[in-house]
Amino acid sequence: MTEKKIPYKIYLEESEMPRTWYNVRADMPIKPAPLLNPGTGKPMTAEELGGVFCDELVKQELDDTTREIPIPQEIQDFYKMYRPSPLVRAYCLEEKLQTPAKIYYKFEGNNTSGSHKLNSAIAQAYYAKEQGLTSLTTETGAGQWGTALAMACGFFGLDLHVFMVKCSAQQKPYRKAVMETYNARVTESPSAETAVGRAILAKDPDNTGSLGTAISEAVEEATSTEGCRYALGSVLNQVLLHQSIIGLETKTALEKIGVEPDILIGCAGGGSNLGGLIAPFMGDRLAGKRAPYFIAVEPASCPTLTRGTFAYDFCDVGKVTPLAKMYTLGSGFIPSPNHAGGLRYHGMSPVLSQLYHDGLIDEARAVEQTRVFEAATLFARVEGTLPAPESAHAIRVAMDEALKCKETGEEKVIVFGLTGTGYFDMAAYSAFRNGTMVDYIPTDEDLAVGFANIPHLEGIQ
Ligand SMILES: *Cc1c(COP(=O)(O)O)cnc(C)c1O
Repeated sequence: MTEKKIPYKIYLEESEMPRTWYNVRADMPIKPAPLLNPGTGKPMTAEELGGVFCDELVKQELDDTTREIPIPQEIQDFYKMYRPSPLVRAYCLEEKLQTPAKIYYKFEGNNTSGSHKLNSAIAQAYYAKEQGLTSLTTETGAGQWGTALAMACGFFGLDLHVFMVKCSAQQKPYRKAVMETYNARVTESPSAETAVGRAILAKDPDNTGSLGTAISEAVEEATSTEGCRYALGSVLNQVLLHQSIIGLETKTALEKIGVEPDILIGCAGGGSNLGGLIAPFMGDRLAGKRAPYFIAVEPASCPTLTRGTFAYDFCDVGKVTPLAKMYTLGSGFIPSPNHAGGLRYHGMSPVLSQLYHDGLIDEARAVEQTRVFEAATLFARVEGTLPAPESAHAIRVAMDEALKCKETGEEKVIVFGLTGTGYFDMAAYSAFRNGTMVDYIPTDEDLAVGFANIPHLEGIQ
């Protein structure tokens, strides 16, 4: 073994942790398109959004110009309980792959929610508390976001009602128990508690739910309950802003060891971890400086960026949310129930969508789930951490890029986001091991059904 000059884990001192979030919108030449009111076709005003989100978050949502936004001291202090997250040099993976590439990953699974989602949850709960609100509602699919927000609301003493996608709730009963331990109330969606839920159940009593439906239910409850607002764990501009902590820490850590990344890789569901990871590096690109090659990775079964269309669409099934201009498969798109790897949202962050549309994100790549779980299993065995299936999409592509370097002999520096751990996804791991996992790739005809649902807007699209 040669002596390793760069440590396995590159940590930051508390004093080196970011004190401001980075708002990449301030530097984007073409800003993401504004959210539209579906009734009027006009941009959503702060007043309209204020019925759904708390005031400070509305301000952040609409702010396309302030580059650096201070992180309130209370949030900085909470971050210190589980951050800085480690940047890890994947020496064992490099060895296993026999690649000359240098692989690093930023590990965000080091908290009870098991994912990066806590970075935004704590901010959203903080601002709600500051405004004197008493409760939040949200939806959760796989469960990480619901858990993260339950932790954050538990910390600040806010009530939380989580609408959990029914099929996920049934596959992961312990997720519910974790959220309840942090004092959240969890309801399976579709539920009889909202008009949207009741309408869906009346038509289809066996409906197993989707993120889009759960969002509709949570928004309906928030807008009809005193002292209550809605919180969302991805897609929104404010969430990408909070998640910039990932990229800021990564950049500082790499600078500390004098390493410049050649390729930056993240999985993309709604876009929050990828948007956060690449933000400050994208800032370099937008300032004309050297920047890595950016790759967004998504499941072949829910191919939003690679096969979706860039258009204004609803963020939910019930069509109660504003319209967002984004890559979308149509709000009625329901991924195959055989799809185990998460990342099943029909849309994508408007910030990432705009960057991708403008060629500033270099590539989006869709991968099939058996190849994802093959990578996940290998990673668990050699690097020790059992990855979330979502994160394993990024691992797959990082491995593919490292194997390319083996062919060419290039010593590229590859950095990817390891967004979380996969302890609650063991049914999927078992399906992979016993060979019952199948790959599903929607046909063009399947996708056409979702596209047909995208609204036609007079004079807009
Ligand atoms: C939610 C989640 C994702 C995907 O969401 P993004 O908003 O695209 O980041 C990825 N990994 C983990 C572990 C998650 O919990």
